[in-house]
Amino acid sequence: MRILVSNDDGYLSPGIRALMGVLAELGEVTVVAPDRDRSGASNSLTLDRPLRPRCVEPGWYAVDGTPSDCVHLGVTGLVGFTPDLVVSGINHGPNLGDDVLYSGTVAAAAEGRFLGLPAIAVSMNSFDPRHLETAAQVARDLVLRLHTHPLPRDTLLSVNVPDVPYGQLSGLKATRLGRRHPSAPAVGGRDPRGREIFWIGQAGEADDCGPGTDFHALSEGWVSVTPIRLDMTRHEIIPAVQDWLRS
Ligand code: MN
Repeated sequence: MRILVSNDDGYLSPGIRALMGVLAELGEVTVVAPDRDRSGASNSLTLDRPLRPRCVEPGWYAVDGTPSDCVHLGVTGLVGFTPDLVVSGINHGPNLGDDVLYSGTVAAAAEGRFLGLPAIAVSMNSFDPRHLETAAQVARDLVLRLHTHPLPRDTLLSVNVPDVPYGQLSGLKATRLGRRHPSAPAVGGRDPRGREIFWIGQAGEADDCGPGTDFHALSEGWVSVTPIRLDMTRHEIIPAVQDWLRS
């Protein structure tokens, strides 16, 4: 099996190192990852300048671009083969509910899926994880399953893992995306020259977080496995929108 690994925390992140460690047992693994933290990059591609991949060690490339750039390069030419599968992570911090729209971790997997490959995004429910080996083991299990039991073509998996020892997990649960409250307000200040600056506010707390959601599963100690659809069309209301256009 040939696996392309990427992330959005950058190639130096302990999370991607842990992921690489276990996936290397399954076959040929190549890492193509951003050269710095690109969390929140979403699905952006760099189109206004060329990218300069750097081979930092055998099988590892650092790219001065986004997670989507990395997977795009990895699948379409940088590496001398077409991977069977794309795995993104292990992200430091959860990607739940609306987070997936902003997440570079999920975007890297989405780019793999757009290019026709099965893909998994793995995130840890802690920004300072102590049990990366748990998520790595979960990723390994899911890669093996996905390889033998493919999912529909328009689907990627977003996986969120509790930061506990593997033996303490409740198990794996298929979930839907919950939803967060609106973000906290932007935080203003002044730069040293007195000019106004802002930090984007923190993500909101969970709002729609009842049974069945990713938030709920994680809070109960389960690994949350959410199938993500790339087609964002709300098919069932197309006729209603057509009527609305006529009205
Ligand atoms: Mn990240």
